[in-house]
Amino acid sequence: MQKEINESVLELIRGDITEQDTDAIVNAANSSLLGGGGVDGAIHRAGGPIILEECRKLDGCPTGEAKTTSAGNMKASYVIHTVGPVWHGGTQNELALLKSCYLRSMQEAERCKLSSISFPSISTGVYRFPVKQASEIALKTVVDYLNGTTNIKRVVFVLFSEKDLNVFNETLVTL
Ligand code: ADP
Repeated sequence: MQKEINESVLELIRGDITEQDTDAIVNAANSSLLGGGGVDGAIHRAGGPIILEECRKLDGCPTGEAKTTSAGNMKASYVIHTVGPVWHGGTQNELALLKSCYLRSMQEAERCKLSSISFPSISTGVYRFPVKQASEIALKTVVDYLNGTTNIKRVVFVLFSEKDLNVFNETLVTL
């Protein structure tokens, strides 16, 4: 599904984020930035050791914040590493922290003068954030952002499963 917002386009697709040709891809990292499983592992494998080398110099990243490295061997030029909250039932500021991940990542892309960015579904894997709630936060934050002044013309959500893509599609039609 795709939706035009102001001068920009928001796309929801099923796929592998490491194969996207947007200027940046976003990594759902952990706070050490020293590698993990899931999408983080896939990005480091596809991009090669240069990403970890750059991450070592960043001194980690707090939950809800975002930091940028190059993207090594991938088509994208940059990886924006953001750290999603671990789900503890919603009582530990998880909703605001997840929103901050999307906002800070968009701001990083803007700061680097990029025009396109791909996101995975942050926190909904090993960190167990419920997908429906996560999709509402993710899409609303990005739609609101694109309704403001921005140079970012294309935002792609790359969902790994058909099930997650369906949930994100259902959410987008309600926005
Ligand atoms: P977190 O620790 O933030 O929950 P995970 O990597 O465990 O991060 O999962 C986040 C989401 O990324 C999950 O929906 C997972 O299925 C998905 N994912 C895993 N590998 C990829 C990939 N190569 N491209 C896109 N999404 C991926």
